[in-house]
Amino acid sequence: MKLTLTAVALAATLLAPLAHASQDAPTAHEQKALEIYRTAISMRTAEGFGNVPKLANYLAAEFKAAGFDEADIHIKDMGETAALIVRYRGDGSSGKKPILLSAHMDVVDAHPEDWERDPFTLIEEDGYFFGRGTADNKMGITSLTSNFLRLKAEEFVPNRDLIIAFSGDEETGMVTTKALANDFRDLTGAEFVLIADAGGGALAEDGSVLSYNMQAAEKTYVTFEMTVTNPGGHSSRPRSDNAIYDLADALKKIQAYQFPVSSSELTRTFFRKSADQAEGDLGKAMATFAKNPNDAWAVKTLRSYPEYVGTTGTTCVATMLKAGHAENALPQTATATVNCRIFPGAGVENTLNTLKEVVGNPAINWTVTYEPTESPASPLRDDVIGPLTKAVHALHPGVEIVPYMESGGTDGMHFRAAGMDSYGVSGIFMKGSDVYAHGLNERLPVKAFYDALEHWHILLTEIAG
Ligand SMILES: [Zn+2]
Repeated sequence: MKLTLTAVALAATLLAPLAHASQDAPTAHEQKALEIYRTAISMRTAEGFGNVPKLANYLAAEFKAAGFDEADIHIKDMGETAALIVRYRGDGSSGKKPILLSAHMDVVDAHPEDWERDPFTLIEEDGYFFGRGTADNKMGITSLTSNFLRLKAEEFVPNRDLIIAFSGDEETGMVTTKALANDFRDLTGAEFVLIADAGGGALAEDGSVLSYNMQAAEKTYVTFEMTVTNPGGHSSRPRSDNAIYDLADALKKIQAYQFPVSSSELTRTFFRKSADQAEGDLGKAMATFAKNPNDAWAVKTLRSYPEYVGTTGTTCVATMLKAGHAENALPQTATATVNCRIFPGAGVENTLNTLKEVVGNPAINWTVTYEPTESPASPLRDDVIGPLTKAVHALHPGVEIVPYMESGGTDGMHFRAAGMDSYGVSGIFMKGSDVYAHGLNERLPVKAFYDALEHWHILLTEIAG
């Protein structure tokens, strides 16, 4: 889960937060959701613990108890982890293909000795829920599961099938995600995907709502290693050819290089809608870029902000180095790691060729350190943005829906790569300073928990009602 707008410089007077149902006694649905949340967090579903199937089985039992047909509940064991698929049958009256609902059951591990509270016990304190996964992504699991249970109890019949697709290794290999997107298509085939692990509302530090951010694209994450080799020799007899110097020359060229500007309907819309919230030159640059992405001043200005440079095109940066084998020997090898975030459509192969050209040293050996997944941007569809706007405005009237491109790393990329439009539409509204996903003492504001449950209830009934 990632929000990109939280760092915008802001006129922080947009909208006051609304009063909320959680101030009343919790409803039966809210109590059930809390029970699911607590149970899911108590299971240490990090890689290597083998607990994801346990969580999948627990959830499957909840669906069954709520009246879902056993034939519509599928646990797919895959090694030590698992995927869960649950179909909520509609009456087919819309004549449309199903909608897939995505979240992930695994978490990044947490070491209890490092935390202030036990990460695998849900603890409510100071207006927050603490625990591993409170935000990423046991909240997504809870929102979707509890709303399926609630809708069933309310005898809601969707006008098309809704299908839950929970992955079990989103934080690591994404093997279950790839299977959900490709191998289990007979069960998961859908018109588009709503992702509970991305998107959401951005709050200013005073709690006012800045915007709602919908993830509609991801950059391609890829890592290259460039290696220079050399016969080496004694360090008392230096020569002009030297693996470390050659590598340093190459790195300086990469540092000086800027990839050409890229833009799309999505990124131009992002900058147009973000411009109002940003002050001074930044706001002006955003508005200018939205109209003319080739405006040199706007590009230069946006690229001076680390939080926006990636939205203007592909970026590559050196992140690791290793070289030499002894302090008194000429280096025989020198290797640098270069991590790239490639703009959708720009292509991994093209990017590598550009880097090779920039460096201009054919003696350098390039390797890709892991298999990248390229995914297209999803179109800004009215049949998604309409219902989403209703859900967002029910709790936060008038807030802008701002589409954004993620720097890379959610289940969405595999669904998009498999041809399914995907949208990160989490119901969580949070301040930047409250985001501790993957880190120590992960937390979720209690208000965000109850609001997110309501968000999904409105979204699902609007989009398939
Ligand atoms: Zn996540």
